[in-house]
This record gives sequence, C-alpha cells and structure tokens, in this order.
Amino acid sequence: MGSHRPTVLVAGLGDTGVLVATRLSRSCHVIGVSTRPALVSGQELGTRLTDLPRWRRTYLVPYRRFRRLDAIDVVHGRIVQTDFKNSAVEIETSTGELRRANYDAFVIATGVSNGFWRHDRIEDLAAIDTTMGAVNEQLAAASTIAVVGGGATGVSVADNLARSSDAEVHLFHSGNEPLPGFHPDVRRWIVRRLASDGVSVHPEHRAQIPSGFLGDTLTTDPIDWSSGQEQFSADVVLWAVGAVRPHTSFLPASVLDEDGFVEVDAHLRVIGQANVFAVGDVAASDPLRSSARNWGYRVIVGNVRALLSGHESKFRDFKPAPYRWGSLLGLQSDGLTVVQPNGKRVRIPRPIAQRLLLGTFVQRVLYGGLRRSNS
Ligand SMILES: Cc1cc2nc3c(=O)[nH]c(=O)nc-3n(C[C@H](O)[C@H](O)[C@H](O)COP(=O)(O)OP(=O)(O)OC[C@H]3O[C@@H](n4cnc5c(N)ncnc54)[C@H](O)[C@@H]3O)c2cc1C
Repeated sequence: MGSHRPTVLVAGLGDTGVLVATRLSRSCHVIGVSTRPALVSGQELGTRLTDLPRWRRTYLVPYRRFRRLDAIDVVHGRIVQTDFKNSAVEIETSTGELRRANYDAFVIATGVSNGFWRHDRIEDLAAIDTTMGAVNEQLAAASTIAVVGGGATGVSVADNLARSSDAEVHLFHSGNEPLPGFHPDVRRWIVRRLASDGVSVHPEHRAQIPSGFLGDTLTTDPIDWSSGQEQFSADVVLWAVGAVRPHTSFLPASVLDEDGFVEVDAHLRVIGQANVFAVGDVAASDPLRSSARNWGYRVIVGNVRALLSGHESKFRDFKPAPYRWGSLLGLQSDGLTVVQPNGKRVRIPRPIAQRLLLGTFVQRVLYGGLRRSNS
C-alpha cells in the first residue's frame, strides 16, 4: 500500500464495525463514526435484562478500552449524507457540528433498529446506563410478563426471565414452533427447553400491533390477537417481533433493496460502487442477512486490503450458513449452549465459557486486548 496510508471510513462501530476497524488500523488510517462512545452489542438481550453487570463485561465496552482502537480517529456522531462521486460523507457530531470526511474505502456497518434495544440515536455513556437500568427495573417489578415474538430474541428473553425471576413468563408466537430460520432440530429442542425452564409458550398467536407502534418501548395495555384468541393482560409486554429497520437514511435509494438494506455482491461490495462495502445486519448479503455472525468482517478486511493494494483478483467471497446459529440463551449456570447450522448443539461448561470464550477468545483474540474497565 506504499507509504501513503489510505483512509478507510467505517460507518458504525457495533459488533462488526469494531472488528473491521481494529483489523485495519495498522495498515490504514481509519476513521470510525459511531453514535455512541462504546461498543453496545446487539447480542444476548436475555442476559442483559436479567444480569446486567455480567452482560456489560463482554457486551458494553467503551472504545477507550480497546487497545487496537488507539490508532483510529473515532468520531462520536451520525453519518447523515453520502457523496459517492467524491468519496466523502457528511457527519453530524454529538456536539451538533457538521463535519465532512473523505475516504479511499468506505465500510457501512450501521446495523438496524430493533425493539427498544437497538437504535441509531446519538447517546453518551450516562444515557446508555440510564436507559438500560430503567428497562431492567420495570421488568424486575413485574409479576406477569408477556413476550411477543418467537425469534432468537423473544426466546432468549423469555427463557432468561423465567429462569431468573418469580414472574410468570408467557411467550407468544405466530407459527407452530419458535425460531424460524433455525434448523428443525433446534426448533424442537427449544420447545422442550422453554417448557422445562418454566415459560408458558403460546403458538399460533398473531398480535395486533397498534398502528405506528415500532415495538421500541415496553407496554402495559392488554394484547389483542388477529388470530382470534381472547385478549391477554400482563404487567409488562416486551415486543420482539423482528420489525427491524435498517440504518440507511444517509444512503441513496440506488444502493438499497426494496426494504432499505444495502445491496452487496458476493464480495460484500456495494453494487455499482467500486470502493464501498457493507457488512452486518444492514447488508443484504443473503436471505438471513447473516454476515455479522458468519465472519463477514474477515471478508471485508481482506477485500478492503486487496482493493487498496490494487489486487482485486484476490477478493474473497462471503459464504453464508444455510440456517441461523449461535448462542440462544447466553451463559447459564450449566454453561453456554451454541446451536449449529446443522442442528447440533455444543454445550461449553460454564468455567470454560466464561474464562476461555468470553475472556480469552472475545476480549483478547476477537477484540485484540482490552484495558481494565477503570483505567
Ligand atoms: C463474532 C460474532 C458472533 C455473533 N454471535 C451471535 C450469537 O451467538 N447469537 C446472536 O444472536 N447473535 C450473534 N451475533 C450477531 C448479532 O446479534 C448481530 O447480528 C450484530 O449485533 C449486528 O452487528 P452490526 O455491526 O451489523 O450492527 P450493530 O452492532 O447494531 O452496530 C451498528 C452501529 O452503527 C451505529 N449507527 C447506526 N447508524 C449510524 C450512522 N448513520 N452513523 C454512524 N453510526 C451509526 C449504531 O448506533 C450501532 O452502534 C454475532 C456477531 C458477531 C460479530
């Protein structure tokens, strides 16, 4: 790449943006734009709602703790416009100024809004803490909790709440089994697991979502069902209905699919843009948009390096898995169960999961070393 260090602009420093930025920071000048001053992971909502201090250790990490981010220019703000022709973006900073930044390569990793737990508002650390604390308190005070939605988030939340509290927990979903997109064996297993952990599961319930409501707050009104069942009342209703909205308002419609996700080719390069890539939940990489958990960041890092050194023939392809996979329930007293694309389950005993996976692997290998939280 010569002595001139090319500039890579990474939009969004969430689960994938952080991995891309930390990997490119040695060979490139990296500018990372983020709406928050910390990595706030979209993973493991269930354990976040039931054991916030432990969840924070792995999933809420101020950027100043990442050694590998020292060399990058982190801008706290939101990208509001993109000028592909001149390879530049317009950023609204957290202090309300407008700043323009030019790039040689642009990586879009701005994720999606989902429920109350993922959004693109500009926030500081105090606001993150206040919001998380308030949600957890409301759930902790409830005697009856309804979780609407049978995807990975709904299942994780319902199971964790049932295990960790005395509340009656009800999970409503519209199909006959939870976890669409997962292997059939995983779907059958989770039905048994939810029952044994004390969740009352209600299949074939399609909730009427109040008009204009995005599921982005906990609610207390009774739930009506378009599938014909009687109204259901709970102290708190948590909506996990998968109403994801991509964070792409700063991009022209020409690079988006009809749902607003970024259209990419097999190299995760944005269609029609030679020096722009997209990865993570915002990228229409495959039907499950699974490039975050299927190591899409490695493809991006390799391809950005290849592009900037003039070796496009070395571009790598992204290979999605046919089914969703991952840790559904988070770390539990009996360990961490990871479900595989082929339907098998691997259970990692708790001490190993805690020390080797969440400690050594995530903090040292994946994040490249973290400073202690009070430094
Ligand atoms: C290694 C790995 C393992 C995983 N394992 C699991 C698993 O086991 N189970 C599971 O359920 N999931 C897993 N996931 C996936 C995870 O649930 C989500 O898919 C992931 O959080 C999505 O990451 P993202 O970077 O696309 O979005 P996010 O993490 O949401 O990051 C996007 C960031 O961009 C910011 N942003 C938005 N708009 C703008 C803008 N205009 N300008 C600047 N910033 C903006 C947002 O505020 C946010 O901070 C895994 C992911 C990874 C990377």
